[in-house]
Amino acid sequence: MKIGFIGLGNMGGPMAANLVKAGHEVTGFDLSAPMPEGVAKAASAAAAAQGAEVVFTMLPNGAILRAVAVEVIPAMPKGAVLCDCSTVDVESARAVAEQAVAAGLAALDAPVSGGVGGATAGTLTFMVGGPDAAFATVQPLFDIMGQKAVHCGAAGAGQAAKICNNMILGVTMIATCEAFALADKLGLDRSRMFDVVSTSSGYSWSMNAYCPAPGVGPTSPADNDYKPGFAAELMLKDLRLSQQAAEAADADTPMGQLAAALYTTFVEAEDGRGKDFSAMLPRLAARHRG
Ligand code: NAD
Repeated sequence: MKIGFIGLGNMGGPMAANLVKAGHEVTGFDLSAPMPEGVAKAASAAAAAQGAEVVFTMLPNGAILRAVAVEVIPAMPKGAVLCDCSTVDVESARAVAEQAVAAGLAALDAPVSGGVGGATAGTLTFMVGGPDAAFATVQPLFDIMGQKAVHCGAAGAGQAAKICNNMILGVTMIATCEAFALADKLGLDRSRMFDVVSTSSGYSWSMNAYCPAPGVGPTSPADNDYKPGFAAELMLKDLRLSQQAAEAADADTPMGQLAAALYTTFVEAEDGRGKDFSAMLPRLAARHRG
C-alpha cells in the first residue's frame, strides 16, 4: 500500500518503520525527527499525503492535528483514509473527521496504548472510531503495528476509549502508591503487601503489571530509577483531556479531577517532569500528613 506518515517522533518513527518492514511504501514528513530507514522523506505534510491510500498522523496534540489536517486533506486522493493515531481531544478528532468526509475522504481516530516499547515491537493496541469500511481498509496495517485493534464506534469513539482508560490508569496508580505509602507507615513490608493485593480485590494493572515499588513484583520503571516508561507529563496530558471531555459532556468525574490536580502539582510545581508516572510513590512516601 502507498502510505503517508506525518509525525515520526518517539511513537510514529517505529510505527512507520514496521510498515516499511512489512513491505509497504511509506513517505514521511516531520518538522524535526529523522526518517526511519526505508521511509522516503517528503518536503511537506501535503507532499507526504499526495497519492497515498492511507495517511497516518502521530502528533503531539489536537491543535497541531487540526493545523496538519488543513494541509493534508486537500492533497489526498478521493476515497483515501486519514487515520490519526495521536492522543487528542474528542472535539478535534470529530472536527478533523468532518473536514475529511466533506472532502470525499474517510477518517479514523485510532489512538494507541502500549508506549514506545509497543510501537517498536509492533504490539500496540488501537482504539478506533470511524466508519466500518475505513476500519476494514486500515485493519491490515493495524495488525502490523499492533496486536489488537478494537473498533469502538463512530468518529471520536477511539479517543473517548483512550481517555476513559487512562483516567482509570491515573486514578489506580495514585491509589496503589497511596496504599504503599500507608503500608510503609504501618510497618507492612512492601513485598508482602504486593503478594496480598496482587491476588486480592485491590489488584489492578498498576499493581500487578507496573508495580510502583522498586524491587517488588515484575520489573517496571520503578526498578530503573523511575525513568519513563510512561512519563508523568503524558499522564497529566491524558488526565486533562479526560477532564476537558467530562466538562464538555457534563459528566461527573471527581476522582479523575483529583488525579489531574495531583499530577499537575507533581509535574508543574514539584520534580515530577521527566519521571515515570509511577514516581508518585516516592513523592507520597516522602510526605507527611498536614
Ligand atoms: P513526539 O513528540 O516524540 O513526536 C511527535 C512528532 O510530531 C515530533 O517528532 C514532532 O517533530 C512532530 N511534529 C510536530 N508538529 C508537526 C507538524 N506540524 N508537522 C509534522 N510533524 C510535526 O511524541 P510521541 O511520544 O511520539 O507521541 C505522539 C502521540 O502519541 C501523542 O499524541 C502522545 O500523547 C501519544 N502517545 C504517546 C505514548 C508514549 O508513550 N510516548 C503512548 C501512547 C500515546
